[in-house]
This record gives sequence, structure tokens and C-alpha cells, in this order.
Amino acid sequence: MKMETENTDALRSEIAELKLQLEEARDTIEAIRTGQIDAIIVEHDTGHRLYTLKSADHTYRAFIEKMTEGAVTLDKNGIILYSNSRFASLLGIPLEGLIGVPLVNLFPDELKAEFRRLLMTGWLEDVKAELELLGHGGKRIPFLLSLTTLDLEDGTAMSIILTDLSPLIENRNVLKAKNDELEEAQRIAAHLNAELQKTIKDRTRDLLISQGNFKFLSDNIPVIVWTADANGEFDYFNQQWMEYTGLSMEESLDSNWVAAIHPDDLERTMDTWRNALLTGTDFETEYRLRNCSSGEYLWHLAKAIPFSDDEGQIMTWLGTKTNIEDQKQELAKKDEFIGIASHELKTPLTSLKGYLQLISSYKKEDVPATIRQFSSRANEAIGKLARLVNDLLDVSKIQTGKLAFSKSPLSLNTLIRSCADNARFMYPDYTIRIEHTSDVVLHGNQERLEQVIMNLINNSVKYSPVNKDIILSTATDGETVKVSVKDFGIGLSDHQKDRIFERFYRVDDKNYAASGLGIGLYISAEIIKAHQGKFGVDSKLHEGSTFYFILPING
Ligand code: ADP
Repeated sequence: MKMETENTDALRSEIAELKLQLEEARDTIEAIRTGQIDAIIVEHDTGHRLYTLKSADHTYRAFIEKMTEGAVTLDKNGIILYSNSRFASLLGIPLEGLIGVPLVNLFPDELKAEFRRLLMTGWLEDVKAELELLGHGGKRIPFLLSLTTLDLEDGTAMSIILTDLSPLIENRNVLKAKNDELEEAQRIAAHLNAELQKTIKDRTRDLLISQGNFKFLSDNIPVIVWTADANGEFDYFNQQWMEYTGLSMEESLDSNWVAAIHPDDLERTMDTWRNALLTGTDFETEYRLRNCSSGEYLWHLAKAIPFSDDEGQIMTWLGTKTNIEDQKQELAKKDEFIGIASHELKTPLTSLKGYLQLISSYKKEDVPATIRQFSSRANEAIGKLARLVNDLLDVSKIQTGKLAFSKSPLSLNTLIRSCADNARFMYPDYTIRIEHTSDVVLHGNQERLEQVIMNLINNSVKYSPVNKDIILSTATDGETVKVSVKDFGIGLSDHQKDRIFERFYRVDDKNYAASGLGIGLYISAEIIKAHQGKFGVDSKLHEGSTFYFILPING
């Protein structure tokens, strides 16, 4: 029992002793840090050693305590005699953990040798270097170390100022990243620039070549070529134009080109050209152009197409004028031949009809049945022939401006009904319906309008081999009346629609061949024109067509 009490007392006094020592150590460190004491005892493997600082170091310590940099003082062996609190906080290590520790311990292994070399140099001369130290948790912190020696009472010590380079390096990294970005952007810009220069060079070369080619070609083809800007101002005429018209380039560009066009064709030509400019669509027309050497006006086909940029803005117009005088003359000869031939055919045709009428006027019993049959077939064939010859005669009359006919008031309903009855009789396989009638009285030629409607019905039958429905209808807005013939046949493409009213135009469809001369619609359109009306078609390929004409009611 006594033993136990003795042990407890010994332990208690030992603890009190240790507490005292700890208290003293703390006070010592604080006193060193604040400069209250000048000496420190550091325990080494070889025993305790006493370090003292000159009194002048008070000022030194007061000064470095306020610095934003870390500062340490080392003895000859590189042991930290003193550290300011800033260095401890930069490393994140308590100050007590630094004093008496060899500074080299705070460096990563691979940098320890370098630090030792630096320290050796530092003893000889002031030196600086960038090195990383290990902070709390092994964190590597970059520092700039500035080494300089200090004279202490018991010898020389090493003073090291440690500047934390982290913000600097971070800035340096940001700067480097920005610089790298800038360099990359510069590199891309330089690359783009080089590409652009190459493109410009290529384009310029292409342009020169194409300009040269264009000029060479346009001056060496037997066609007049011109170009105009987006507003229709002419900016180029080729050699052919100047040779043909006798106008100089300046005169031509100065609007004198109009002088070369036949006065009768000028207004129509200008209207077509203005319309093309306004709508940006292809220009096409025919007019007579004066030849300077003969003084003759020769027919030309004028065409122009617009060229647009990537945004669809018209940049330039390229036009040609082709001499079509020979074709025009050929066509005139053909028209003349058609006129004479149809006229000459008309006389024997009329006689033939007369003889056939004579045969049919015989009593039934006087004529054998077979002859009667042949005569009725001959009558049908003569009817077809007469229609063809009449059509050709009409074309010829239109060409010579002689398609004249009288007009009188007529009932549209009666006209439509009579055409429908006629068609039902001619085409018993087809269903011909009348829809939406308008009982208007027209001022026109009964026979010619019947010819137009019958031509439309004939075409509907001809070009609707499968679906055999045909619908006739009329509609009025009080001032005009629209007459339509609708079928569900082979229909027409947009391109075909544009051309079917031309003389002798027929759709070239290998899958579907129907006989005809390609003049029915041409004559019909001319008849409607002579009634101050308009002709038109709505159609879709393989779905059917609706041909119509619009007439003024009080025309
Ligand atoms: P054609 O004697 O050839 O029928 P037209 O002048 O009457 O001459 O017609 C011209 C062309 O228009 C025809 O060849 C045909 O290709 C086309 N056409 C006319 N009517 C129709 C229609 N109802 N459906 C489809 N194509 C048609």
C-alpha cells in the first residue's frame, strides 16, 4: 500500500515536471519568435547546443515578422534556428515543427541534393533559386529562395527569404495558356490567310482564263453576244454585234443599240426585256435587226439568262442574238405551201363529197348493201380529211391575218349542250358530263367557238385512253365567263404546258402516240384571241388536264 502511494507521487511529480518543461519550451519558442531572447538550446545527436543571436537581430526579427515572405535563419548545419510565422503558415506546418529541424528535410527527395548545393554556394555568395518545398500533407509549394549570410555572435548564420511563387506560377500558367491560345489563333489566322491568298490567286487566274475564253469564244462564234448588269445596263457587246450593226462599242453602250431594232418590233421587245428584268426570269423574243452593210432588217432570236450570286442576287445578264432569217423564210415557204396545198385539196374534196352525196341519194333498193356500207365509210374518211384540210387552211389564214369571222349574240348554254350532244354521239365509250352551267349570252362566232370546244373535247378523248370521264363546265364573275374541259388522262409537264399552243408543237411521248398535226390548240387560241379572250391550261402529268378559255361577256 505504501509502495503504491510512493509510485503515484513519483508519477505525479514527473507529470508536473514534464508540464513545466513543455510550458518552458513554448515560452522559449514564443520568446525566440518575438525576439525576447537571444539564445536557444538545440538538442543534437551529439548532445545539446546553444545558439545565440546578436542583439541587433531584434530589429531583424521584428522586420521579418511583418514580411509577406517566409524567412528562416539556419546554422552551419542547415538547422532552422529561427523561422517567421509567415513561413510556417505558407507551409501549413506549426512553427514548433520547424525550429531545430534541418531545412533540407522540407524538400522533396529529388530536390534535396540541389538544395544542399545551393546552400553550399550560399555560404560563399548571395544566391537565388526556385525550388519546391513540401508543405502540410506533402503538398508541393514553389518558392524563390534568396540566400544571404548573417553575422551572429558565435559565428555566421544563413538567412533565407522564401517567396511563395504559387500565385506567380498560377499567373504564369494562365498567361502561358492565354499565350498558347493566342499563338494557336495566330496560327489558324495565318493558315486561313494563306488559304485565302491561294483562293484569290486561283480565282483571279480562273477569272482571267474565263474572261479570255469568253472574249475569244464570243468574238469567234457566229452569234451576237452581250452582257448587262443587274439593272439591264449593257456593259459589253461582242465583235459580231459591231460588225453587223456598224455601231461602235461606245455608241452601243450609250443606248444607241435601240436604233438597230426594227421600229415595229421595238415596243414589244422593250416590254419583254423590262418584264425579264423585273421578274429575274429568262428573256426570249424575236425581232428584226438592221444589217449595216445591206440596210436590210433580218430576223433574230434574242435570248438572255440572269446569273445570280450565292444569295440569289442577280449579278449579270448574258444574252445572245441568233440570225434566224433563213428559218423564218423556210417557215414562210412552208406556210405558203400549206396555204396552196390546202386550197388545192379543197376543190377535189368538195367534188368527192358531192359524188358521195349523190350515191347516198339513190334509193336503198337500187344500191347494193356493200356499196352503201363503203359509201358511209368513205363519208367518214372524207369528213376527217375535210377537218384536216380546214385546219391547214385556218393556219394559213391566221398566218396571213385573214382569219375573219362575223360575230352575233349566242347562248353559251345552247353552245355547250350542242357540243356535248355531238361528242356523246361521236364517242359513245366516253362519259361526257356538264357541270355548273352559267346561262350567259355571248357576242361571238357560233361555228368558231364550237370548233374550239370540239377541239378540246377531241383532245381529251385522244389523250385519255383509260379514264373515260370528261367534264364540261362554265363559270362567270359577271364580266367574264370561263369555259373548261376537264379530263383525267395523261396530263402535261410544266415544260410541255409552255409550248403546246405553238404551231406544229406536239409532245414527243414514245409511250403514247396519237395522230395529229399539232395545230388544233394553235388555231383554238387564235380564235379565242380574236374574241378578245384568253386561253389556258391546268395540268399535272399522269393526272389529267383542264383546258379553258375566258371570254368577256359583252365582248
Ligand atoms: P394534236 O393534233 O397533236 O392533238 P393540238 O394542237 O390539239 O395538236 O395539241 C398539241 C399537243 O398538246 C398534243 O400533241 C398533245 O401532246 C398535247 N395535248 C393537247 N390536249 C391534251 C390533253 N387533253 N391532254 C394531254 N395532252 C394534250
